[in-house]
Amino acid sequence: MDKGLGGKTALVTGASRGIGRAIARRLAADGASIIIHCHQSRVAAEALAGELGSGQVVQADLGSVREIDAMFASLGAKKLDILVNNAGIWIGTPLGKTSAEDVDRILEVNIKSVFWVTQDALPLLNEGARIINISSVAGRVGVRGGRSLYGATKAAIDAFTRNWALELADRKILVNAVAPGYVTTDMTNEHFSDVEVRKRAIERSPLGKLGNAEEVADVVAFLCSHEARWITGQILNVSGGFVI
Ligand code: NAP
Repeated sequence: MDKGLGGKTALVTGASRGIGRAIARRLAADGASIIIHCHQSRVAAEALAGELGSGQVVQADLGSVREIDAMFASLGAKKLDILVNNAGIWIGTPLGKTSAEDVDRILEVNIKSVFWVTQDALPLLNEGARIINISSVAGRVGVRGGRSLYGATKAAIDAFTRNWALELADRKILVNAVAPGYVTTDMTNEHFSDVEVRKRAIERSPLGKLGNAEEVADVVAFLCSHEARWITGQILNVSGGFVI
């Protein structure tokens, strides 16, 4: 269903694969011009740009403030109507076995990058722009397997969402988050290659299935639409009832 984003420009981080790519496709189908951010998957990002026709590719390791600044410098004075903070990593950080490098990396990519990207995007955002942060149900519930830091990073995203909704309200910028449950992407492929793990996750889901990236992208499109103009500071679970 076309959400009427003609004439709007959206920057989607981590749009080369998975949920970010589905969001880019969905917003483009609704008429938006997409700035496709990637890190290592440049070829996939270029392929997506070709597919979308209107796509521009920017590349940066979001774990580096220097690279984030350089990415925004490359955008010049381009105006943005939508910022989707989607890029993220999912690594195990079990207590007693986790290196300082892994702690720094997950905090840098999942928390600090979202702060810096949003801060750098501020001068480019039009009045009435939308910021959508991709959180996770893991920010609310415990997950087995040493995922405490991942969950903590997503709880931080929820806190950013509520605070920025207040901070940016005077510019009529709406800030919301989408918190997916398990979605089949490269991020979860290895985890769900274990048949028993997959079976348990499906059994735990009231709707009896894992999610797909398009089911998340459709909700992001709604939050970017005119219909969502009275919604800000919310964290919307998109998990087939995983968190009830
Ligand atoms: P994915 O398939 O692994 O894709 C991750 C994306 O993030 C890629 O486009 C990747 O870019 C980018 N990225 C990773 N590290 C980066 C870095 N250091 N700098 C810049 N970009 C980086 O993951 P996904 O499943 O689509 O997840 C997308 C978001 O949804 C994440 O925030 C994740 O936490 C959240 N989420 C996922 C699930 C799930 O079950 N899949 C559930 C809840 C929430 P390159 O490939 O170009 O390097």
